[in-house]
Parts: sequence; structure tokens; C-alpha cells
Amino acid sequence: MEAAATNSNFIRNIVLDDLATGKVRAVVTRFPPEPNGYLHIGHAKSICLNFELAQEVGGQTNLRFDDTNPSKEDEEFVKAIQEDVTWLGFTWNQLCFASDYFEEMYERAVLLIQKGLAYVCDLTPEEMRTLRGTLTTPGQESPYRRRTMEENLDLFQRMRSGEFPDGSKVLRAKIDMTSPNINLRDPVLYRIAHATHHRTGDLWRIYPMYDFAHPLEDAIEGVTHSICTLEFEDHRPLYDWVIEQCEMPSRPRQYEFARLNLTNTVMSKRKLKQLVEEGVVDGWDDPRMPTISGLRRRGYTPEAIRSFAREIGVAKSNSVVDAHMLEYFVREDLKMKALRTMAVLRPLKVVITNYPEGESEWLEAENNAENPALGARLIPFSREIYIEQDDFMESPPPKYFRLFPGNEVRLKHAYFIRCEEVVKDAAGRVVELRCTYDPETKSGTGFAGRKVKGTLHWVDASHAKAAQFRLIEPLILDDVDEAGDDLLGRLNPRSMEVVEGYVEEGLEIAGSDKFQFFRHGYFSVDSRLTSPELPVFNLTVSLKSSFQL
Ligand code: ATP
Ligand code: MG
Repeated sequence: MEAAATNSNFIRNIVLDDLATGKVRAVVTRFPPEPNGYLHIGHAKSICLNFELAQEVGGQTNLRFDDTNPSKEDEEFVKAIQEDVTWLGFTWNQLCFASDYFEEMYERAVLLIQKGLAYVCDLTPEEMRTLRGTLTTPGQESPYRRRTMEENLDLFQRMRSGEFPDGSKVLRAKIDMTSPNINLRDPVLYRIAHATHHRTGDLWRIYPMYDFAHPLEDAIEGVTHSICTLEFEDHRPLYDWVIEQCEMPSRPRQYEFARLNLTNTVMSKRKLKQLVEEGVVDGWDDPRMPTISGLRRRGYTPEAIRSFAREIGVAKSNSVVDAHMLEYFVREDLKMKALRTMAVLRPLKVVITNYPEGESEWLEAENNAENPALGARLIPFSREIYIEQDDFMESPPPKYFRLFPGNEVRLKHAYFIRCEEVVKDAAGRVVELRCTYDPETKSGTGFAGRKVKGTLHWVDASHAKAAQFRLIEPLILDDVDEAGDDLLGRLNPRSMEVVEGYVEEGLEIAGSDKFQFFRHGYFSVDSRLTSPELPVFNLTVSLKSSFQL
């Protein structure tokens, strides 16, 4: 793996400073996903930041499942998340589950009750909201706030044993109903949920809330720098309150950074889930999805994603990053790695009338003109080949340099051909071209005769392998993730076009699944749909873009 992040960022500066001043001796970070969906490119930013920061200073990073909400979580997501983090190139030190700490969390809640800092409240959610007040008006105390410690201990124990229905009671912290920070107005610490947890089964009938659970998880694991997104900034005083009042032996600190937003991309798990459940896409790993698994299936590489995460850096205010920047890093990474081969997407047959029938020859083609280390291959050439329908026009406009009646073009890696005759079907559609080739013009022989302006790609008909190509465009038409809730109204009807054609025979055994198809773009074998009979390729990224770093 390449060197860890050396881009300066404010969190890195804090970490380096804490080490220099001896405030911490060893750095521990964590990546804490909730297993309620697949990871997306926004999570990748957080993963890279946490792992690379710890790596740089010889620290460690835990992968921790924040599994405190059983009704939405599932083992499927736990597995997929581990696979994605590993694929990105990171190794966690400890694999942790918040649910492993449920007993300790319960004990810490009991401690708060004993200290007079928590109480069982029977208000309905609606009443609680009303009494909480607003940014401009103070809240009012719950009538249940004065319950005795004994009563609270008894009720909390009975909440745990499942005596009360969902929503009938909560455990709340007793802090300050007049605090200007609404998060400190007696926040809920525990709720009742008669739900089966994917790991603890039916053992628990109460589950801790994020604001209570998260600081405890961090402290239990000895996390030193707990990095989260900006919307938790106002929760930090509560985070610190929980650590302190629960008398945790270690003292993690929370730091907030701006979440990643990308143009033409929705990134909330809730919305991605909607796309999956409504069948808009073919699963969480549909190559149009911004999930790690979708990007992987599309052909993105971990190296490209890591470079992107480094380049966008760590900011303190939210912004939207141009999705072309991510594509730029994909292109940069594939440029030297991908085999450059030929694929014909909408084929048109060409018969080379002066090429001897029944004969063929093998022509040398380099695999990547910019990276000789990838070697060369031999490609067949004979009397019948395919070119793209788009590379021929019967009545071309001026400055058209591709094939038209009487015009001569170069075939990549092969010869010059001239179009002599156009064959049409009964409906008047062009179905075949009859051309002649010039044996003197063989590629690589230093032919310095006539010049031609067009170079076409092609495949030999008798050796071509039928293939399917999935041309991908952004799934979402407009820019901002949070814009309204009419997700289905924002879909791009052309997000995926399926096209039939041919690739060079033998590509499937070339030992790679990523290709640059000459003049088309970078493509990757679709891991799910491809079969020995019909290879299926996803467009990873087009060849060029006006985007500049
Ligand atoms: P979502 O809103 O997409 O469901 P989440 O924050 O609820 O995301 P979690 O599984 O709780 O998802 O997130 C795990 C970690 O990933 C958290 O630390 C969170 O801050 C971080 N994270 C999530 N989305 C982004 C994003 N867009 N950019 C950067 N970090 C993110
Ligand atoms: Mg969440």
C-alpha cells in the first residue's frame, strides 16, 4: 500500500499534537458503522481518515458495529461491511460490536440512577417533544423527574425484563431542561424495544440510544480520537457528560468533520435502501450505486477511492464535491493497469474482398501503449471483421474522417481499408460493407505512403466473442443529496443502456477484469452477470473528461 495520508488536515494536526505533548501515548481510532445497510463512498472517506491516521502514527483502528437498533440491522450488512473495508485495503485491530457491551452499558445507566442523574419517564414522545422547548424557549421538567432513586431502579429493572410495552417508558438523563443546548435537556438514554437482535436475540428488551452508547463504546475500547460528522458537534457536551458521569476509566475525545457529498449522488442509507427495495436498481451492488460494492462491481479500484479520499481532505464545513473528481482518480489509476483492447459495441460487418478466403494472420498488438510491462498479444485478422455502425456514414458531412464510400481508413494494429460497396437489406438499412485492404500498409512495418485521418477499432469476425456492454450514466439527475424527498422523480431514465457487440476472443482468460476498450472507455467484467457464453462488461468511466484537478 502506498504511504499513508500526509496531506495536512486539522484532525491530523490534533493527533500529532496530542502525541507530541504526551496527552496520548498511542492513538486508537475506530470506524463505527451501523449494520443497517451497505457502505457508500461517504463511509469510505471516514474509513480512509480513521485507518490512515492511525497507520501514520503506529496506532490502531477498530471496526466496530454500532448495533443498537435491532429492528433495522442484519447479519447480511455485518458481512458486507467487513468485506468492503477489507477490499478498500484496511485491516482492523479489533472487530467489536456495541452489543457486546450491553451489560456494561446497563450497569453504567444504573450508576447514573444511583447518582440521581437519570430517571424513568412515562411521557409520550409527543408530550416529551412539547416539554423540550425550542431554540428560543427553555424546556420544562417532566413530572416524572422527581421519582425516587429506588423507584427508578425498580422501573428500569422491569423495563429490562420486558414488563412494559414499546414506547411506554424511557430512561432519561437528568441534566438541564433550560440548557441552551437542546441535547442536554434530559436526553433519552434507553428505550424499550421488543425486537430480536441479530446477535443477542431476545435477551434485551431495552436498547441504549446513540448518544449514550457511542461515548461508552469509545471509552470501553480505549479510543483516543473519536471522529464523526459535523451534525454531532452539538452532541459533544453530552458525549463528554456521559463519559464523565458514567465514570469511564478512559477519556476519548470527539472531533467532527464535514461529511462527503457528491454531485448527482444520493448518499443516505435510507435513500439507497429505497432504491433497492423499490427495484429501481438491481441490489445494493448495482454498478450505478455509490455503495462500495457497487463501485467495485463497476470497476472502481481501492487505490482510486483512497486517492480521492486523500485529495478531498478533511474540512470543517459541508460542501459538495464534483463526482467527476472521483472519476478522475479512477481513470488515473486504470490508465497504466488496464489492458487496452478492442470491443465493437454496435457491430457492422465488413468483408475484405481482396483478402484470401479461408486464410488468416496474427498481428502484434501492445497491451498498453503507456505501460510496456503489460506486454503484447496477437490478434487475428481475416476476410471478415466487425466495425462500429457509428464509424460508417453513407453520406458524411464535411470533415468526417471515418469510413464512407470511397474513403480509406486505418484499422488499429492492422491495415488500411477502403470502402468499395455498401450492402443494404430490403428496408434500406446498411447491413454490410465490402472493402479492399492494402497489404503494403501493415501496422508496424514503417509504411510511409498515403496518410489517412481516421483510425478505427475492429474485431475479427471469425474469432470475435459476443459480449454485452452496460453503458452507465449517473443514476440521479440533480445535484444535492438532501434536495427534497422525491427521489424517484429525480432518476435519470438513461442511467443504464444495454448494448450487444463483440470483444476480442480470449479476453476472459487475460487474467484481468479491467479493460480500456479503444475509443470507448474503461470497462470491467460484471462479476454477477458474466458467463462463459456471454461476458458482460460495465462501463467504469469514459476515456476523457473536461475535469481538471
Ligand atoms: P447514513 O446517513 O448514510 O445512513 P450514517 O452516518 O447513519 O450514514 P453510519 O453507519 O452510522 O451511517 O456511519 C458510520 C460512520 O461513517 C460514521 O462515523 C459516520 O460519521 C461516517 N459517515 C457516514 N456518512 C458519511 C459521509 N457522507 N461522509 C463522511 N463520513 C460519513
Ligand atoms: Mg446512522
